[in-house]
Amino acid sequence: MKIITSIFNLNKEIKNYKNVGFVPTMGGIHKGHISLIKASQKKKNKTIVSIFVNPTQFNKTSDFKKYPRDIKKDIISLKKLNVNYLFIPKIKDIYKFNSRKFVLRKKDKILCAKFRKGHFEGVLDVMNRLMSIIKSKDLFMGEKDYQQLHLIKKFLSKKFGVRINACPTIRTANKIALSTRNKLLNKKSLEKASKIAKLLIKMKKMSKLHSSKLKLDLSDYKIELENKFNIKIDYLEFRDEKNLKLNNRKNKFRLFVAYNINGIRLIDNF
Ligand code: AMP
Repeated sequence: MKIITSIFNLNKEIKNYKNVGFVPTMGGIHKGHISLIKASQKKKNKTIVSIFVNPTQFNKTSDFKKYPRDIKKDIISLKKLNVNYLFIPKIKDIYKFNSRKFVLRKKDKILCAKFRKGHFEGVLDVMNRLMSIIKSKDLFMGEKDYQQLHLIKKFLSKKFGVRINACPTIRTANKIALSTRNKLLNKKSLEKASKIAKLLIKMKKMSKLHSSKLKLDLSDYKIELENKFNIKIDYLEFRDEKNLKLNNRKNKFRLFVAYNINGIRLIDNF
């Protein structure tokens, strides 16, 4: 595995991006990331993984600072997986050139965009920069961050002529979606997160089976969950899988949730 830290060396190393799949990450490599890497390796001859904890997508500096980082462990994991290139750019290199600013319209200010002001503007900005540096035509991203996937498809896939390969969410045996942030949870919070995930998986199943009978307004259930688990839920909503509009159950839908548990914000969808 070649570890590359400068844009100059990256372009020298990878002249033809045709057969390179790109897996952008913020590190803390886990089985969710690994599934994206394997999907890329299946489809492409070579795979490039980036590790970049992007400061502009964090609402609070404290959140950025405490984001779990373990680059040594990540390098060991990625070497074992036979990743071809690992790109670890510096913040100053990514942000040294001027680039388009993204502004979300009202209809996009839903779910996390409503609760994390500026978050997706930061995500789109950094992905725009990374995609202009790494000219891969195949990007591998997780459905775990469904809204992110949706917005990158909407704003960037056409511009760069990139295929966004969406990969399913990988969960632990007790149904928690793998996430680097889970490292910040204590045992009790992990137990609660597992119970919440199991309840929501059940709810999604039931709503699929009896779609005509179920209520679309989940505000009562939201309060019930908040009291039961002592959490603060930002949103709990059924939305259309394709356009993320509030769902009328006619089209394929997903149940989206974001909540704060012990000061840590978790998101998931089912
Ligand atoms: P992150 O390092 O959290 O920014 O995630 C990098 C990529 O991995 C994103 O495309 C995520 O959607 C994806 N990802 C994160 N967690 C999971 C998971 N549990 N299953 C599948 N993909 C994931």
